[in-house]
Amino acid sequence: MTRRPYIVGNWKMYGTRAMLSEARAIDRAAQRHMKVEVALAPPYTLIHPIHREAEQIAVGAQDCHHQDGGAHTGDISAAMIADAGAKFVILGHSERRQDHGEGDALVRAKAEAALAAGLRIIMCCGESAGTRESGKAVEFVKQQLTASLPSAEAMPADIAERLTVAYEPIWAIGTGTAATTDDIGEMHACIRALLVDLFGEEQGRDVRIIYGGSVKPDNAAAIFAVPEVGGALVGGASLTADSFMGIALAASEPFEN
Ligand code: PEP
Repeated sequence: MTRRPYIVGNWKMYGTRAMLSEARAIDRAAQRHMKVEVALAPPYTLIHPIHREAEQIAVGAQDCHHQDGGAHTGDISAAMIADAGAKFVILGHSERRQDHGEGDALVRAKAEAALAAGLRIIMCCGESAGTRESGKAVEFVKQQLTASLPSAEAMPADIAERLTVAYEPIWAIGTGTAATTDDIGEMHACIRALLVDLFGEEQGRDVRIIYGGSVKPDNAAAIFAVPEVGGALVGGASLTADSFMGIALAASEPFEN
């Protein structure tokens, strides 16, 4: 199946209501780039305001709790973000793994909760600089992904619709230095093989694998030309409509062939 490229903005802990005008501009521009699926994951406080106004883009969250509810001060459940208008949630981002000590088992539990709430999930994986230097990046990512993803039995029937994998080498996030196209190509091919192993040929082939880590308008076209790259998870460059939609524009080109 040919999927539209998926370009997702992760606003991290940036954005007050003053940023709503930027979200509006992204939504308007997305209406002119229908060959690309554009989505935004703002902070929780902006999910509902953006969802209420957006005509084209999907809105998602950057995390959720693994339980439905309870005495968990400061946390938010998958059902709550869905109620606010979220259609997807980013899980296992390296900043959550580092800042909040989230391990693979917890990330998997969150994924199961999000799927049960009807959300799509973007499952992040990626190695540190040290792991890459030691030559163990592929092995590490395969292990991390296998342990973080729900088992095939726990997955809904429409796996390829509900799951996206984001390969985000930690050393490339927010540094201005993206991974090389060779490294991206090698890792995405390995992730594809793993997804086929885990979920079977039909579903595993169709799951989108997107790249994240210093994607900008000027390197996006080269990254999107790499086989098995189905889009991008974009941090810093998603904060303005101009740079984010520059990336979306680059995504529409290789897929027009
Ligand atoms: C991210 O945090 O998911 C990310 C890819 O950030 P940046 O684009 O800023 O490297």
